[in-house]
Formats: sequence, structure tokens, C-alpha cells
Amino acid sequence: MPDAAQAPSARAEFNPFVQMQHRLDKATGLLHLDEGLVEILSTPHQELTVAIPVSMDDGSMRVFTGYRVQHSVARGPAKGGIRYAPDVHLDEVRALAAWMTWKCAVVNVPFGGGKGGIICDPRRMSPGELERLTRRYTANLLDIIGPERDVPAPDMNTNDQIMAWFMDTYSMHQRSTQTAIVTGKPVGLGGSKGRTIATGLGVAISAREALRYSNFEGPARVVVQGCGNVGGLGAKLIQEDGHQVIGISDMYGAIHNPKGLDMPAVLDYLKKNGRLEGFPGSENLTNNELLELDCDVLVPAATENQIHSQNAERIQAKLIVEGANGPTSAAADDILQDKGVLVVPDILANAGGVTVSYFEWVQDRMGYFWEEKDVCERLDRIMVSAFRDVAEAADKHQTNMRIGAYLVGVERVAYCHNLRGIYA
Ligand code: GLU
Repeated sequence: MPDAAQAPSARAEFNPFVQMQHRLDKATGLLHLDEGLVEILSTPHQELTVAIPVSMDDGSMRVFTGYRVQHSVARGPAKGGIRYAPDVHLDEVRALAAWMTWKCAVVNVPFGGGKGGIICDPRRMSPGELERLTRRYTANLLDIIGPERDVPAPDMNTNDQIMAWFMDTYSMHQRSTQTAIVTGKPVGLGGSKGRTIATGLGVAISAREALRYSNFEGPARVVVQGCGNVGGLGAKLIQEDGHQVIGISDMYGAIHNPKGLDMPAVLDYLKKNGRLEGFPGSENLTNNELLELDCDVLVPAATENQIHSQNAERIQAKLIVEGANGPTSAAADDILQDKGVLVVPDILANAGGVTVSYFEWVQDRMGYFWEEKDVCERLDRIMVSAFRDVAEAADKHQTNMRIGAYLVGVERVAYCHNLRGIYA
């Protein structure tokens, strides 16, 4: 076993890139990969930091900082979302880019991994300011993006409208409409049916497979952290599968009803009121109380670093299905494993989004669009086979599903590096 089997220090525990590297070291150790190849896999292929000047509505000018990291292009164009948030930082974007590399390889779609981010608070910006920010950011990336080079998508706080502006800006520079430059676009503008629900659907499929894998009988009691595109839609789909969603949270707090929440009504309530608090028939909880609720399945679908060395011991769920990227630290992995908790890791459980992004990119390039039923069926098949590959790898190496997923992803990327060789 590599020495990286030791948990990282507490300070490093909240650095997503350190956390990614820790798992990567475990996987490359088990695969006995060449040291030089490990260095290639650990090093982002290309990173760009850009200054983004924006004219604000009040007449002032502000400069925002944006990033795009391409972790790998070994299996195909870099692929991954763009997030807008006040706390975006380069190591976070690096980790998210690397996770995209392993994720695309786990579901076997022909992409590398990338991620972008802008340090901003989109809730305090007008639509006009967001449009100018997006267009200038796109223009700043022109030298490194393209349908065959790097294909962004939505991530935290970005959506189909932002992708439409991105696509338009790129297309204006190319003097032709290039829909395949981004995915997650509106349907009717090169978007794919089923893309909006894809990540939530992938999470629901992963939960279904994991419950089956662990021989769980009967309806499960499910707790979901996050009520956005992933958590909210995922919870609704999990409930449609016959399970009981007993708790869910948003950025302000959580609601709990041990008899089960009616998810369509919860989503309606959130839309009308802007927050979950006060949903009829539920009690309010803090986010921490939510994570530690007595339940069968926990779906962290909010952000990074939610389950860590300080709270992992108190998690009561038997199964964790990671809708967010990086919600669990490496130290927490070990604690959860000792407790016998089965964790379906992010790079498998939330891969539904990028899988349908791949379908969208294919449809754009074909100029031929599929029905939602076909999208969902194809997604289901891919998720089931990825789940099986990961479970088999974990079993073969007597490790957990997190490292199983890294083994599958890393081995596929390493295979391409070995065949391609180094251009000199
Ligand atoms: N942002 C999503 C993720 O983290 C989707 C990326 C994509 O579709 O390219 O997987």
C-alpha cells in the first residue's frame, strides 16, 4: 500500500485538490503505475487565470477573477462545468477538473476533464451584469476552448441561459453557430432533452443500484442535502422509485418529517417562497442536524467538505450517494468504511450530468435530436454498467467503492497515455 493511505492533516482536509490527490495516490498504488505516469495524472494539463472587467449597472467598473483548468485531454476534449461563487479558488477548480477526468472515464464517455469558475456572487448581480461577465469570460477563454478542445457546461450557480450566452459569444467569434461548444444549453438551442434532470436521475439510478447491491429490502428513508438541480430533482425521482424522503435542506436550513415529505409539494413551496423553512407539516433543522439524522440513505448534493473527520462518526445512514462533487473528505472515507457505510462516490453517482452532456455534444454534432425516453434509457444503461465496473474493481482490490471508482477511471486514462506516448 502507498504511504498516502495515511489521512491528510486536518488543514489539508478541506483542500479539495489534496483530497483528490490522496485518493489518486491510493489508486495508482494499487494499480502499480509507473511513477512518471502518476506525475502526469497528478498534474493539470493547462490552467488559465483571467481578469474579467465588467461594467456594472450603477456605472462603476469591476474586475472579476476567472479560471479554467484542463486537467486532462488524454481521452478527448476537456469537459466540465463552470461555477460562479464567492469562494471559488484555484485548488478547488483543479480538483473539480481532475474529478471530471476520472468521472468521464468511469462512465466511459470520450472526454478528458476540465472545470471553470468565476469568483463572484451571482445572487447580487443583475441579469445584465451576469451576461456581460459571461461574455467577457468566454472571450478570454477563446484560445483554449472549442468543441474538439474543451467543452464547458453548467455547475453551481450557472444554468442554461448562461450556456446560451457562452455559445453565442463563441459563435460570434467563429462567424458561425457552434452549438457543440458548451452543453447544458436550452432545449431548442442545441440542448438535449433530459439534460436538466440528468444528474438527479443518475443519483436516483445510483441509489437504486446501491440498494440492490446491499440487498436492502423495502422503502428506504432518505435524507438529501441540497434542493437544487441535483438534490431537489434527485429527491423527487428517488421518491418516485418508492422511497421516503424524510429530510432535505437548502442554503438556509433543513426540513424534516419522519413520515416523509411530498417532494413535488416541497419543490413548489421552494419556488414560491425562496426557502424551505416553514414547509407545512415539517420541523426545521440545521444542516448539521440533517446530516446526522437517523436514515437509510444520505444524499449530500450541496457542496464540498460536508462529511469530514469531525462528523463522520455521527452519520447514521447505511448508504451515502454523493450528488455533489467532493462532499466527503479522505479521512471521513476511512471512518465511514470502518462503520460499514457503503459510499457511492461522486465520480460515479453524479456522472449522469456529464453523460447526458456527452449525448448533447453528439446530438449537436449530428444535428439530430433524440427523444427524452431514449436519453433516459441510454443514461440508465451507462450508469448500471459503470456501477458494475466500479463494484467489480472494488471487490477485486478489496477496497471501497470510492477507490474502486478511481481504479476504473485512472486505469482507463492511463491506458490512453500509454498508447499515445509522449510527443516530443
Ligand atoms: N458540472 C457537472 C459535473 O460536475 C456537469 C459537467 C458537464 O456536463 O460537463 O459533473
